[in-house]
Amino acid sequence: LKSAKAKSGIELYQPGAFHIARQQFTTETSLRRAIEANRLTLAFQPVIELNSGKVTSFEALARWREEGVDIPPSTFIPVAEESGLIVPLGRWALDEAARTLKLWDRVAGSDVPVRMAVNVSAIQIARDDVPTMLREAVARHDVAAERLVLELTESVIVADPDRAAKAMESIRQIGATIALDDFGTGYSNLAYLQRLPIDVLKIDQSFVTGMLGNRDKVAIVRAVLSLAEALGLRTTAEGVETLELAQTLAALGCTRGQGYFYSAPLSAEDAYAFWARSNSRAT
Ligand code: C2E
Ligand code: MG
Ligand code: MG
Ligand code: MG
Repeated sequence: LKSAKAKSGIELYQPGAFHIARQQFTTETSLRRAIEANRLTLAFQPVIELNSGKVTSFEALARWREEGVDIPPSTFIPVAEESGLIVPLGRWALDEAARTLKLWDRVAGSDVPVRMAVNVSAIQIARDDVPTMLREAVARHDVAAERLVLELTESVIVADPDRAAKAMESIRQIGATIALDDFGTGYSNLAYLQRLPIDVLKIDQSFVTGMLGNRDKVAIVRAVLSLAEALGLRTTAEGVETLELAQTLAALGCTRGQGYFYSAPLSAEDAYAFWARSNSRAT
């Protein structure tokens, strides 16, 4: 390979592009294998109701460990989206999240009163039948659709507003909730907030982290919170890393928080224990 590379001369002219293309191909091939061999896992991060301190839900986040090295979602999700692998990956994530919820119910001896949130890429909405996938996962694991939350980003609406609206209405009809992820970072027209069946706005961590002492960030967070209140939407702040942030957000009227202050994403077992502990404290 080395001599072929040297002979081609590509490295002399476009070392960066060649390297990136090759790396992407390698990642894509090994990601495909990892999905097929069921070697991805999910981590679960609690979402906390700011007023009561109760766990309201967990967000399921994909994890990929290859030869002892963690490959971050910021690396493999874009590759999955570009290659189309996000379709099987996304199907697996929803199925695994529903399966885990059912597993927790069995351990608890009754339905654990938390929701499970799963990220759904705009590519899945465009290329896959997400409502049918949801119906199937719910039936397979015998969990109420009302316990599932699908996190979509504004990009889904920008890409194909009509298809997005249809998919969102079906998802809602089935009973699941829709959260708008990374809110504030997209480029969409805000008019859709009033038309589409959205339940929760997740305020992007780029506005939350470092918001204390930054008047611009505080102004943006305030604006999002008052918009949400006027439209009857709940709000989750991402990236809550300190007690002071949690208190400030609660005072501003934010409903929920998620971040390292409460917990990093956890294994299924540790997430269950986190819920059980916080539940016994609350009652
Ligand atoms: P996201 O959906 O916005 O998820 C929140 C991200 O913020 C997670 O990163 C989480 O670990 C991180 N985070 C949580 N608390 C804090 C905090 O206090 N401070 C900071 N700085 N970060 C915090 P993660 O797990 O690396 O995932 C990154 C992104 O990858 C996710 O962002 C989501 O867009 C995407 N992703 C992850 N799993 C999936 C999946 O199964 N399907 C799809 N389509 N996307 C996924
Ligand atoms: Mg998310
Ligand atoms: Mg998010
Ligand atoms: Mg985010």
